[in-house]
Amino acid sequence: MNDVLKKSVPGGAAAESVTITEAAAGAILTIDLGAIRENYRRLKARLGGARCAGVVKADGYGLGAAQVAAALAREDCDTFFVALLSEGIALRRSLGPVPAIHVLSGMAPGAEGEAEAAGLTAVINSVEQLAAWRTAARRAGRKLPVAIQVDSGMSRLGMAAVEVEAVAGDPRAFDGIDVTLVMSHLACADEPAHPANERQRLEFERLRKMLPKAPASLANSSGIFLGSRFHYDLARPGATLYGINPTPAEPNPLLPVVRLEAKVIQTRMLEAGAGVGYGHTFHTPAPLAAATISFGYADGWHRRAASAAWFEGVRLPFLGRVSMDSIILDISALPPGRLKAGDLVELIGPSQTVDQAAGHAGTIGYEILTSLGHRFHRRYVNG
Ligand SMILES: *Cc1c(COP(=O)(O)O)cnc(C)c1O
Repeated sequence: MNDVLKKSVPGGAAAESVTITEAAAGAILTIDLGAIRENYRRLKARLGGARCAGVVKADGYGLGAAQVAAALAREDCDTFFVALLSEGIALRRSLGPVPAIHVLSGMAPGAEGEAEAAGLTAVINSVEQLAAWRTAARRAGRKLPVAIQVDSGMSRLGMAAVEVEAVAGDPRAFDGIDVTLVMSHLACADEPAHPANERQRLEFERLRKMLPKAPASLANSSGIFLGSRFHYDLARPGATLYGINPTPAEPNPLLPVVRLEAKVIQTRMLEAGAGVGYGHTFHTPAPLAAATISFGYADGWHRRAASAAWFEGVRLPFLGRVSMDSIILDISALPPGRLKAGDLVELIGPSQTVDQAAGHAGTIGYEILTSLGHRFHRRYVNG
């Protein structure tokens, strides 16, 4: 049996992932690790003396947590955040024993042992999680590091004020617990004038004073741009590392990181009155040159996104609906025969940033990146 066939044997080597070569791929995702490192340096410069962590949840915002974290580690980043225990365990394997890895969701009840074994720092969001962690410490026979998250006004995660007051009044609350960080998260940091930012900061100040003395952390990417009052000891940027604009009303102070290109499968001349794509939501008003690309909603592009691809700076609008594996483009803006099968058109890159692509899809850059599919040839450059 040759290697290709072996990989398709059910239950055998089937779980092994097949490397997608550039020739075989329908689309190519290029991730500029050098740009991620430069973005990290720019954020650090803006932070002055505060430390800068790397948030690599959701597989490094879709770009590969292992590769991103390794690039950040080369910039001496030694503190990371993921959302889930499984992400933390995978990251521990790839980063080795030294860096601090925080799990933002804390631990699901019963998973404490696994987290402790992997040397992960739980972000404790409730008195229940704190109690479970005390038990885990007793079982482990040693003090365990934890971060305490307080809810300063987002109502999503973290101890509410009454819970903070309760643990503050309980001398046994932190038995076996080494509080290494007190943190909270901002709801409206991308709107600098929003009054919730300062309200949350003041509430964070009030709550953290009731807790064991520890370094403090409040700012995500956009929080870093609210000024030094929001920096505290450690910032937790994610989006900005990946080139998403933290200040949507102003030019992006970070470098773009991602380039996404899809291959042309075929081109054709459509006659006037042709119905295009599923549901015939578009009919050609006149003869029109079209190209079909190997990229669709299964690759993470919204089915209803009114959007376009680009070729050598020329905009090629989508025609009709996005299919699972393909999209039809209007290429009549190009000279006849200019675009051929196998050519690459740009979906994210110099002609269309992540934030612009998100705007056309009615969403945010975060969702564009974390939705990116798994059928691309991935190319890491400037590592
Ligand atoms: C996702 C997340 C971050 C990073 O946010 P960005 O806006 O991507 O910088 C920081 N802290 C917490 C608690 C988060 O959930």
